[in-house]
Amino acid sequence: MSLLQVSDEISNACLKAGRPLKTVELIAVSKVQPNDRVLAVLEQGHRIFGENRVQEAEGKWTAFKETFLDVKLHLLGPLQTNKTRAALELFDCIHSLDRPKLAKSIARIAQEIGYCASLFVQVNTGLEDQKAGINPTDVDDFIANCRLMDLPVVGLMCIPPTAEEASLHFALLAKLAERNGIDQLSMGMSGDFGKAISFGATHVRVGSAIFGARVAPVPS
Ligand SMILES: *Cc1c(COP(=O)(O)O)cnc(C)c1O
Repeated sequence: MSLLQVSDEISNACLKAGRPLKTVELIAVSKVQPNDRVLAVLEQGHRIFGENRVQEAEGKWTAFKETFLDVKLHLLGPLQTNKTRAALELFDCIHSLDRPKLAKSIARIAQEIGYCASLFVQVNTGLEDQKAGINPTDVDDFIANCRLMDLPVVGLMCIPPTAEEASLHFALLAKLAERNGIDQLSMGMSGDFGKAISFGATHVRVGSAIFGARVAPVPS
C-alpha cells in the first residue's frame, strides 16, 4: 500500500460507518523506517507521525522538524519515567500512559515546564502479561486519579492480542471510553484500521501499510 491507498481506505471506512472524514486522524508510524521513506511521506504533505521510542524519535525528528515546522508527533511505545521530560518536549501526544508512576511523573514535569502533551490511557484489553496497559477493571479509577492530577487525558488506546478477533477489543475500548466521558480512541493498525474505524477509532496508527515492511535498524 501507500499513503494514498491508506487514506482512500480510511475515506471508505468513514463513508461506510457514516462518519465524517475529519473525525479520523491518520498517524503514520515511522519507527525503524529509513529516513528516505519518511521524507517521501513528508513530501507528500503528511504531517502526523508516530514513534515508539523517545531516543530514536529525538534523533530522527529534531532534524526533520527544522524543515517541516508543523509536524505533530505521537509517542506510541512504553515510556520510562526517566525519559518523561524528553518525551514531553518532543511529543504532542502520548498514547502509552499505562501506570500510576508514569502519571505522577508526567504531572510533576508538566507542572515544571508549564505544558503537557495530550494523553491517551493505554488499556491492556487482552490482559496479556507481556503487554503494557491498565487492566480494564482498573481503568475507571486510573482515569479518575489522572483527572485529580489535572492530566489532560483525551483518549484511550489499545493493542489487541494478535491471535484474537480485534473487534472485541475495539468494542471494549469504546465502551470504557464512553462510560468515562472520553471521546478519542487510538486503535487500528495496518491490518485492521478499517475495522477500528467502524468501532469508533479517532486515531489509527498505521506503519507498514504506508512505509513498507520495517527493515532492521542500522547500527550507528
Ligand atoms: C508499530 C506500531 C504500530 C504500527 O504497526 P503496523 O502494523 O506497521 O501498522 C501501531 N501501534 C503501535 C503501538 C506500534 O508499536
